[in-house]
Amino acid sequence: MFQCASLGSGSKGNATLVRTPDTCLLVDCGFGLKETQSRLQAKGLSIDAVDAILVTHEHGDHSSGVARLARRFDIPVWLSRGTALHRSCVDIDSTFPLVAESTVRIGSIEILPFTVPHDAREPLQFRFTHQQRHLGLVTDTGHFTQHMLDVLAPVSTLLLEFNHCPERLAQSRYPPSLRQRIAGMHGHLSNQQALSVVAAGGLDSLESLVALHLSEENNHPDQVEQMVTEVFSGHFQIANQSDGFDWLTI
Ligand SMILES: [Zn+2]
Ligand SMILES: [Zn+2]
Repeated sequence: MFQCASLGSGSKGNATLVRTPDTCLLVDCGFGLKETQSRLQAKGLSIDAVDAILVTHEHGDHSSGVARLARRFDIPVWLSRGTALHRSCVDIDSTFPLVAESTVRIGSIEILPFTVPHDAREPLQFRFTHQQRHLGLVTDTGHFTQHMLDVLAPVSTLLLEFNHCPERLAQSRYPPSLRQRIAGMHGHLSNQQALSVVAAGGLDSLESLVALHLSEENNHPDQVEQMVTEVFSGHFQIANQSDGFDWLTI
């Protein structure tokens, strides 16, 4: 068994689960303690089942719940040096370093952290491997580099940011500086950018695709669904802010 699920995804909070029969990882936690527990419960888990927390970067929608959760339940936290130095993460007692391109193993899951262009201190995203099956996670990136494509080439399941529709963003009520940040090279992926990753043809083993981190203001699930199903014939689903997505076998 090798599965993933999301407790919720979007600018109001993110948390992703990756598990095998003997290991359960929580990637990011942008929810409060009670909310995290109830969201875990909805996925059939208690917090005791979580062996480790990995943090992609310090932005609040990914890190705001991590320190309290880790302290309260004595869960080790894995994160980059840059992320660890941010005030949201400095109070964590038990931390382990993640270095880009250096594989680590937690229980029966191998984790390859890789560098992404996003406006954080030292952001990482991850490829997870168990028994020759690979899962890719990319929640926040301004664009896709060749290196990211190379790292993700063998994945059979990809959880990928589809943040915004450029037209909706351009017409949004966001201030110009925020619109520029989101659309910039170190902001977030547009639907078209995410789609080009899938359509480019490098992900030959891809069976399942999950769209993550959709903007509630500047995107619409129907639009994403229509765009993806035109070019991708495998399994496709969209994670939402209220309850993420249910367990998916990799
Ligand atoms: Zn971010
Ligand atoms: Zn984010």
